[in-house]
Amino acid sequence: MSDRNDVAVIGAGIVGLATADALLERGAAVTVYERGVPGNGQSGGESRIFRHAHDDPRMVEMARRSRAIWREWEQRFGVELVSDDGVVALGPPVDERLPILDAAGGIAARRIEADAIDGWLPVMSSVDASAMVDADGGAIRTTAAIRALVERVGDGLVADEVLTVRPTSRGTVEVRAGGVTAQHDHVVVCAGPGTSALARQVGLHPPVDLQAHVRSTFAVRGDPPPRLACLQDSSGAFGETGVYAAPTPGNRSYAVGLSETVEVGEGGTVVDPASLAALDERARAYVRRALPGLDPDPVDVRHCWVTALPWSDDGVAAWQGSGVTVVAGHNLFKQAPALGRALAAAAFGEGLGELDPASRLGAAD
Ligand SMILES: Cc1cc2nc3c(=O)[nH]c(=O)nc-3n(C[C@H](O)[C@H](O)[C@H](O)COP(=O)(O)OP(=O)(O)OC[C@H]3O[C@@H](n4cnc5c(N)ncnc54)[C@H](O)[C@@H]3O)c2cc1C
Repeated sequence: MSDRNDVAVIGAGIVGLATADALLERGAAVTVYERGVPGNGQSGGESRIFRHAHDDPRMVEMARRSRAIWREWEQRFGVELVSDDGVVALGPPVDERLPILDAAGGIAARRIEADAIDGWLPVMSSVDASAMVDADGGAIRTTAAIRALVERVGDGLVADEVLTVRPTSRGTVEVRAGGVTAQHDHVVVCAGPGTSALARQVGLHPPVDLQAHVRSTFAVRGDPPPRLACLQDSSGAFGETGVYAAPTPGNRSYAVGLSETVEVGEGGTVVDPASLAALDERARAYVRRALPGLDPDPVDVRHCWVTALPWSDDGVAAWQGSGVTVVAGHNLFKQAPALGRALAAAAFGEGLGELDPASRLGAAD
């Protein structure tokens, strides 16, 4: 690399922007290529859950590092980025994940009795299930985070689609994008569903399983509650074993989705076009049964691609070759701050560490 490292990031979703921030912190010259509206891919829409609970203790540690950086960013950008409303989890994973959180130490997660749920989630029907709360978790203010990081990147953002990434004999990496041909010392590909195509050009083949997903947002009836926790309901008490939900800023609405995704086939198309509507209808039916504090007619919807790795829905890994690093995984919003730092380190030649695919980061054991 040259004295002032010149690094390109492809994709201005939360992962690319967090990586750009970490590279700027290291003094790199950073160009971020984005073919659409920054933050409008998988990172689109308001609210994501920040939770510490994972099946893999390494992901718990990564979440802890990320939580600290989210706080750092709140100070630096002067805006709330994760609410302090907590995350309530219901069902069998509570018994599996609570010991992992306890072993990690210092995370404000604890079991709660069923009659305490209402204090965290006043929009929910009463339920008899194992329950825990992660009081250091909360709703990520996604649009505020994207806005702050886009400002941080400033003129480094190039509004163009990258067509090719090619290592040259001079040791640089050539990027060809719309009206640009440029040489960089290193390229980090954070292009979400566009990552696999660019990775193949440099001989890398992340085993991404492309799927599609839908989540709807429902208005809170009456005055917004002062506290409205995020929810992960695996209890089955209301007919579904994989539901997640997060409030939007001001707690006036609540975004609810099933963790389930729908199949995407060859050529990247949804196999059954009715499947997304069916998933959406099940989420609405869940709202009618479990969340009487919400109006069951949605006020907003978010469709997106899901780029999961085979070993876990929370899995993440990076691959490297010839001056290029590519990253893939799912449920990455919460982990983007720590992930960005790890990818910046990789771009500076410090290795992939636990992002090495052989680590299977996110796997249960
Ligand atoms: C409804 C929903 C709910 C979710 N819930 C949670 C949650 O609660 N907690 C959590 O942590 N995560 C959650 N996730 C997952 C999380 O949002 C994603 O993992 C994360 O946003 C991925 O960010 P990214 O930057 O990797 O990808 P993206 O946001 O998809 O960014 C990739 C960018 O690359 C650009 N791009 C692609 N190809 C090219 C190219 N050739 N040239 C230039 N630009 C290109 C795209 O336009 C896009 O902007 C959820 C996702 C969705 C959709």
